[in-house]
Amino acid sequence: MLSVAEAEARILALCVPFSGGDREEIPITEGRSRILAKAVLAARDVPHWDNSAMDGFAVRSRDCQESGAELKVIDEVPAGENPGEALQAGQAARIFTGGVLPRGADAVVMQEETEVEDSAVAKSVVIKTAVKSGQFVRRRGDYCRAGASILAAGTRLGPAELAIAAANQTAQLSVLRRPKVAILSTGNELVSVDQPLQPGQIVDSNRYALIAFVEQMGAIPMPLGIVGDRREDVTAAIRQAISEADVVLSTGGVSVGDYDYVEAVLEELGGAIAVRKVAVKPGKPLTVAQFSAGKLRHLGLDSQGRDRPVVYFGLPGNPVSALVGCWRFVAPALRTISGRSPDGIAPQFVMATTRSTLRGAGTRDNYLWGRLGLDTESDQGGFSFQGATGHHNSANLINLAGTTGLAIVPAGTKTIQAGESVQVMLIQELG
Ligand code: AMP
Ligand code: MG
Repeated sequence: MLSVAEAEARILALCVPFSGGDREEIPITEGRSRILAKAVLAARDVPHWDNSAMDGFAVRSRDCQESGAELKVIDEVPAGENPGEALQAGQAARIFTGGVLPRGADAVVMQEETEVEDSAVAKSVVIKTAVKSGQFVRRRGDYCRAGASILAAGTRLGPAELAIAAANQTAQLSVLRRPKVAILSTGNELVSVDQPLQPGQIVDSNRYALIAFVEQMGAIPMPLGIVGDRREDVTAAIRQAISEADVVLSTGGVSVGDYDYVEAVLEELGGAIAVRKVAVKPGKPLTVAQFSAGKLRHLGLDSQGRDRPVVYFGLPGNPVSALVGCWRFVAPALRTISGRSPDGIAPQFVMATTRSTLRGAGTRDNYLWGRLGLDTESDQGGFSFQGATGHHNSANLINLAGTTGLAIVPAGTKTIQAGESVQVMLIQELG
């Protein structure tokens, strides 16, 4: 039985990131959650020109070394317009946030610190404070210089990154394709969501969990349906899955029961098995295998002329075990294959104060589901973890609703008492 860390390392070693040949061009409107194939470089300095950070007056600071200077207002510069003449000694220009700083000006005074005197002949302004050179001015190139990398290759595009690309007028994005993920549910007892249930049958809920998970990961789910526990059916389904997908997720059939064929079939087909059992609860039976490009060719399953391996995850059938396996092991694998930069691959962990006592699971790490919140009871703040109420049992799907984190009681630890600190894995990325 492998430790969680060993299993993770072996899994990541099977994953080959997408590269140049997996690139596609898309319009920026379709960029959400996609991974950049190459860096976006700044097309120009940002800001593009010296501009005002305030509504107020552009001035020459040397005219306003002391409070009370009176300046002649010679211009008005709203955002989006070009200023007129350069400021001379004793002159100011009305300016608004984002407005281009007139030549000659080196500072902006916010309007709250001015008094305007409007006479029939001229308009002037009294500056009520002393002014420092550079105040309230956003200088050209302060944020970044033309040519600098503003979004690195491997970045996942969210709202902020898309705004940056848009501001740079990068309307077409060069991104990596999304991994295709086949989803198989094995088990004679399974029926689909719309079929009447006979005694002993259960609904294939894993299919829906896994489709949603794969979509959330920015990958393309390919649901292949239910496969009965017959060896030839399992073989045919696995052959189809590995011929079409980059990654295969199957659930069920990886325990030690008489009808658990997944591992045997993977071996028979020549998959290199890297993981069989992991010291984790729930989710101990986990079979992970890789079919190399050569093996796929040998099996006659490289119909698309792929030159890359397929990674196969045989997850346990129990709904909670299957999802915990996805969150802990499949997510980093998918992020790696998707071409995410190395700092975006590992799961994210936080330390939290547990509100209830958490029990260990002997020689396995125990992953307990629940919710993270702000720790309002401690002076230091930080997170608190509230374990889901009810059974923490791998078949109990019901109390999994609303889960935001998995608290980890390490192997060998008997209990973590209420009020003590526990490591919690986030099941969705921050940002
Ligand atoms: P297995 O890993 O095949 O021994 O299945 C373990 C348990 O998970 C059994 O009680 C199954 O009924 C349940 N199970 C298996 N596959 C699914 C599925 N696709 N959806 C929901 N429950 C499942
Ligand atoms: Mg089964």
